[in-house]
Amino acid sequence: MTDTYPKDRLTIRGTEINYLFICSTKLWYFSKGITMEQESEWVDLGKFLHEKSYFGEEKEVKIGPISIDFIKKGDIIEVHEVKKGKSMEKAHEMQALYYLYYLKKLGIKAKAILNYPKLRETRKITLEGREKEVEEVIREVERIKALTKPPEPKKSRACKKCAYYELCWV
Ligand code: SF4
Repeated sequence: MTDTYPKDRLTIRGTEINYLFICSTKLWYFSKGITMEQESEWVDLGKFLHEKSYFGEEKEVKIGPISIDFIKKGDIIEVHEVKKGKSMEKAHEMQALYYLYYLKKLGIKAKAILNYPKLRETRKITLEGREKEVEEVIREVERIKALTKPPEPKKSRACKKCAYYELCWV
């Protein structure tokens, strides 16, 4: 059986997978390299990671198109993502699944842990039985990235904190 997505074809970044579940307009702008002022969530999170938590782990690990918050090595590699809150949990979950999918293509078996330090919660994610779902998501991200203009913006809760607010609504 042919591999739907050989690793050389996987150039999508984890953030792009995440944005698909937040807003496709945001995904399109981001994928075109359009950057606005840094979003406060990421500034806060970066600071949090560097100054306070998870000391001693391997942080900000970049492998191909993916950039993992930190990795724990053990019998099986643990890929950790640190998130502020759970309002975009589906986006977090699919981003983590994409990481596991990509790592599997490299021959690395891993599991993912979503960390919500402010809520003192964690959630384990595994790839078993979900590869087709990841591939559908990859296809949808590719479709949006290939559009010649951004998808029509839709007002949502995410707009309030979005770096592209002015492009969409002003
Ligand atoms: S402002 Fe709203 S519609 Fe525009 S990119 Fe951001 S989240 Fe999407």
